[in-house]
Amino acid sequence: MSFAFERLLVNVLFLLLPIFIYQIFLLDKDKVRSDFKNPLFAILMSLSIILCMSYPIEFFPGFMFDLRQVPFIIGALYGGYRFGAWLLITILGYRLLIGGDDVYVNFLVVTLVAIIVPILSKTYMKLNLDKKIVFSISIAVTTALLTIFLSHYISDMPFAYSSISLNYFMIQGLSMWLLVYLMETMKNNHQMRKELAKAEKMSVISQLSASISHELKNPITITQGFVEALEDENSQERRKEYVGYALDELQRAQNIIYEFLALTKPDLNTMNIINISQELAYVVNLMKPYAKANSVKIKMEPLAEDCKIVGDHQKIRQCFINIVKNSIEAMENGGELHLRSTVNSNKVYIDIIDNGVGMTPKEISQLGTPYYSTKEQGTGLGMMIVFNVIKKMKGDIKIQSQKGKGTQFTIMFPLSS
Ligand code: ADP
Ligand code: MG
Repeated sequence: MSFAFERLLVNVLFLLLPIFIYQIFLLDKDKVRSDFKNPLFAILMSLSIILCMSYPIEFFPGFMFDLRQVPFIIGALYGGYRFGAWLLITILGYRLLIGGDDVYVNFLVVTLVAIIVPILSKTYMKLNLDKKIVFSISIAVTTALLTIFLSHYISDMPFAYSSISLNYFMIQGLSMWLLVYLMETMKNNHQMRKELAKAEKMSVISQLSASISHELKNPITITQGFVEALEDENSQERRKEYVGYALDELQRAQNIIYEFLALTKPDLNTMNIINISQELAYVVNLMKPYAKANSVKIKMEPLAEDCKIVGDHQKIRQCFINIVKNSIEAMENGGELHLRSTVNSNKVYIDIIDNGVGMTPKEISQLGTPYYSTKEQGTGLGMMIVFNVIKKMKGDIKIQSQKGKGTQFTIMFPLSS
């Protein structure tokens, strides 16, 4: 029995392993969507099945079972017919390969699962967590019971093994509960993180919009002045000059709007080769009105040309915007914000330096914790996004700060060769 119990634990591990691999290497790295419909998930489930089948549990001489039905049902529930068919082929193929008795029972049960479970998939997906658990456990237990009955009637397994059978369907039900619970929690966490990032972006946009609409007043007033002056001007040359000025100002207004709108575009999640200097220039331009509204001067040293890195340019922008915005906000009575970039051994370093309120080492260590904010209007999500983006682009961030003196952020990205 103790050997069987060890085997059972190993089987449970085989169920958990692919789920954790999926979470750590794919979901957390945003390489897949959170709904488990990616073919890689089907492949991981088939790995689970093969492992379970390779190490069956023998509770009683001649009565072997394993937990293969659990990943099979999960695959068919989450991925429908395509996953169901793929997993069916896996089970039957592997069974042929390793051989074994009561092929018929196995064949019947898995074929039934492959046909019926995908039909239930759509209904299942609409349920809430509790109902999903009840639903999936019911399928798992029914399948286990079916296996026991068919084994009795087709393969003559004596019902005397009923206590073993009881173990079997309880274990199958429990494993199902564990897996569905884990998967759904993973999915929810992943979605929540996405929502948080979106919420922060919207909050930044709304906070910037006030200063940007203020900034638009200037070119509009100037244009208005020139158009009015046109009315009383007779000299053809002067009129031309005024029209030129007016058009320049309109162009400026258009640029301000255009840059602001670029920020509100939905995320595309695409990694490209991007020019970091261009992105910094964009951010500085975008943040100028906000800086001005807070009496902050932005001083950008001429940037190193041709710094190409691999990244998602919308995310990089968001990251710089969040840091620059914090730095501006740290200078409550105005000040200067310095930006510079240096290139060193295939890496680009970007310094963002303010002479604002600064932070204590303890405050620095709290940066990036969700909802950590010392501001009345703060969301405490800005730095969390910064850290996430930098990690994702394989960069690094260093923070030096002195209370009352100011803060320097140094961000490193590896250059693309
Ligand atoms: P929020 O800006 O909404 O408060 P963030 O995650 O962007 O959230 O920042 C968290 C906190 O980190 C801020 O509330 C502030 O106390 C501190 N902080 C961030 N950047 C600076 C900086 N340049 N100087 C001083 N404090 C900063
Ligand atoms: Mg912030």
